[in-house]
Amino acid sequence: MKNYYQKEIETASYEEIRKIQNEKIVKQVRYVYDNVPYYRNLMEKKGVSPEDIKSVDDIKKLPFLTKDDLREAYPYGLLGTDLKNCVRIQSTSGTTGKRVVAFYTQKDIDMWEECCARAIVAAGGSAEDVVQVCYGYGLFTGGPGLNGGSHKVGSLTLPMSSGNTDRQIQFMMDLDATILCCTPSYAAYIGESLAERGYKPKDNKLKAGIFGAEPWTEEMRQGIEKSLGIKAYDIYGLTETSGPGVAFECEEQTGMHINEDHFYAEIIDPDTGEVLPEGEKGELVFTSLDKEGFPLLRYRTKDICILSRKKCSCGRTHVKMTKPLGRSDDMMIIRGVNVFPSQIEAVLLKEGYPPNYQIVVDRVNNSDTFDIYVECTPDRFSDKISDMQAQEKKLNLAMRSMLGIGPKIHLVAPKTIERSEGKAVRVIDKRKLH
Ligand code: ADP
Ligand code: ZN
Repeated sequence: MKNYYQKEIETASYEEIRKIQNEKIVKQVRYVYDNVPYYRNLMEKKGVSPEDIKSVDDIKKLPFLTKDDLREAYPYGLLGTDLKNCVRIQSTSGTTGKRVVAFYTQKDIDMWEECCARAIVAAGGSAEDVVQVCYGYGLFTGGPGLNGGSHKVGSLTLPMSSGNTDRQIQFMMDLDATILCCTPSYAAYIGESLAERGYKPKDNKLKAGIFGAEPWTEEMRQGIEKSLGIKAYDIYGLTETSGPGVAFECEEQTGMHINEDHFYAEIIDPDTGEVLPEGEKGELVFTSLDKEGFPLLRYRTKDICILSRKKCSCGRTHVKMTKPLGRSDDMMIIRGVNVFPSQIEAVLLKEGYPPNYQIVVDRVNNSDTFDIYVECTPDRFSDKISDMQAQEKKLNLAMRSMLGIGPKIHLVAPKTIERSEGKAVRVIDKRKLH
């Protein structure tokens, strides 16, 4: 028997979904126009008024929002309601310069948690399950999102948060966890750690995992499924739209259903902004149809993917997105943390280094390595190893405080990083993520 968390809406016909979306968008555009002066200005500049939006087909008339807008409007400029109506703030992982702060009313939280509950049920979850959540708790959306979803489903929730693998394994084994929620790299790491401790896949009670927040490949999926003896499901989301659960995988494992009753998805050409037809590859853009606290319209995710309405064997009718196939900006996700080369450059300049550097990212034994090669200035270069190590340490700390994760710093002699004749090659990402 197939299980759904909200069967009626998850299996509604295309026409029914459209009807809901059309009703919601008319109200939502009016709401945003009336409550968010920042977006009202953008609409006025574009010559669009709420009356112009009669259905989701008219969404293309609306202006886009980008991370730059979020930064400019930080912190309250895109708030949709009085702060007193909001009950929660969440924020993106890691970054200082580009931190996104999102606000939630109780209704927003319920909607988000319901989306996560749909994902858990799609992965086979029910009130019988023990859901171990080892996404980080706190400002990061991973922990709170899946935690809330698990509560809605009525599963027994283990709010582990991230880290402390010994304790994760002890609880997993002693308390018979059946569903594991974390980043795919951490899942792979747990798999290895179990094997190191002499456990076979059949020794644990896990049956499924819900993994997301960073790119992962089919090969990685197979590795995780084998090492843990589970079925591994992808989940996608971003803080700007709420968090994980915007889209989730079903048992068919051929893409993630987008919760279309709450999020309207478009694929655009990242260069021209033109909306592309279904099946074409481009940048994913989301319009939240009913959020109150942080109601973003036409938010450009910078994630490149393809949408498909092909009938799914699970019975769900919502449009599916492929795994993100890349980004239309230079953001990297390293150990689950969003990192921009521009932040690294800013730290180097602040610490008095020339902007001659190279970032090398790789994935070794399922975890990301992060190295930065930096050219020293002649006056700082020293033959004494301890001098160089002290400088590397200082730079590592400065990077850590900016990025939230610490790279391995390699100071190299002046003029040793290869100069490029065209655009400098700043980033060498050896991970095969797509
Ligand atoms: P998260 O809590 O998911 O890390 P952020 O807002 O910090 O949220 O980052 C969102 C970005 O993370 C997305 O735009 C996308 O690039 C990436 N991401 C999230 N989930 C996935 C996934 N399942 N596969 C690939 N990338 C993902
Ligand atoms: Zn499906």
